[in-house]
Amino acid sequence: MARRKYVVGNWKMNGLKAALDEARAIFAGAADHAAVDVALCPPFTLISAMADAAPGAAVGGQDCHAAAAGAYTGSVAAPMLADAGARLVIVGHSERREGFGESDADVKAKAEAALAAGLSVILCVGEPRNVRESGGAIAYVLAQVAGSLPAAFDPARLAIAYEPIWAIGTGLVPTVADVAAMHGAIRARLGELSGPAAAEAMRLLYGGSVNGDNAAELLDAGDVDGALVGGASLTAAKFLPIVAAAAQLG
Ligand code: PEP
Repeated sequence: MARRKYVVGNWKMNGLKAALDEARAIFAGAADHAAVDVALCPPFTLISAMADAAPGAAVGGQDCHAAAAGAYTGSVAAPMLADAGARLVIVGHSERREGFGESDADVKAKAEAALAAGLSVILCVGEPRNVRESGGAIAYVLAQVAGSLPAAFDPARLAIAYEPIWAIGTGLVPTVADVAAMHGAIRARLGELSGPAAAEAMRLLYGGSVNGDNAAELLDAGDVDGALVGGASLTAAKFLPIVAAAAQLG
């Protein structure tokens, strides 16, 4: 079965209640492209309001704790995200791995907690610039995949986002050939780890400076099933052209 294109916006630490109008516009515009799955991941504080503002829309978190509850001041558990109206959560974003010291084991535990809470998961991997420059990007990312993958999962509920760290928020993007090579290597490794049927069903997203101008060629690369978008997901004017590009390829 063909994999549906999937375009996900990561609002990071951006968005006050006034931004809900933008989210409404994004989901309204996305409805014109029924062949594409579209989701927005706002800050925790907006999840409930965004889910209410756009009934039926896929709203997600940007992180969750691995525990279901407990004495973890400032953290949010996966069942809390689900309770707030989230359907998905991003785990292992490089800004969490680097800024908060999250290991592959931490990311795996978070992914498993999210799946147990009924959420879908977008699991991020990606190499730093020095690793890309030294030629070790594929080995580095495949080790992250093996170390972060949940022990058991429904492939329909787990997507992998390949996000080279040096491409996030920089305007730099890998060549289409490099993206295709990485995605092909990830899918082959997933086949070894989880079996060919799961690997074939899983969606692999590219992330890192995707915009309306480069989306079509990046989304058309081999084994690319969608995009995880940061800066260009904050407004309908910038995000909807990416959704439209995905729809063209859908
Ligand atoms: C991201 O942080 O997930 C991301 C892809 O950001 P940007 O699109 O801004 O590079």
